[in-house]
Amino acid sequence: MIEFTVATRSRTDFLDVTGEVQAAVKELAVADGVVLVFVPHTTAAVTINEGADPDVVRDIDMELGKIVPLSDGYHHAEGNSAAHIKTSLVGSSELVIVSGGRLVLGTWQKLWFCEFDGPRQRRVTVQAV
Ligand code: ZN
Repeated sequence: MIEFTVATRSRTDFLDVTGEVQAAVKELAVADGVVLVFVPHTTAAVTINEGADPDVVRDIDMELGKIVPLSDGYHHAEGNSAAHIKTSLVGSSELVIVSGGRLVLGTWQKLWFCEFDGPRQRRVTVQAV
């Protein structure tokens, strides 16, 4: 397993971690198979979506904020229930095919680390399956 860290910059933040995951694939010496990208946090997630236009993840962030308001009479005393809920909606992992040592992603696809309770130092793990 390979682990790397990311530093998020604000309460919600989307970071392109495709390069870091590709580097992990190389370090794991995976030629052909599948890698699991897992975020071991309860208020951060990972997703695959467009990387060409930064407005795409901006819109995702904006709409998630409408679906899950920052405060809504939540019970969780820590005050970050919205972040927990967004994490469950987006998910903690992605499986990506590896072929010829390269992540198999569509032309516009990137792996996005999704911060919902930053800014913080976060961990991302990558394991060959
Ligand atoms: Zn909490």
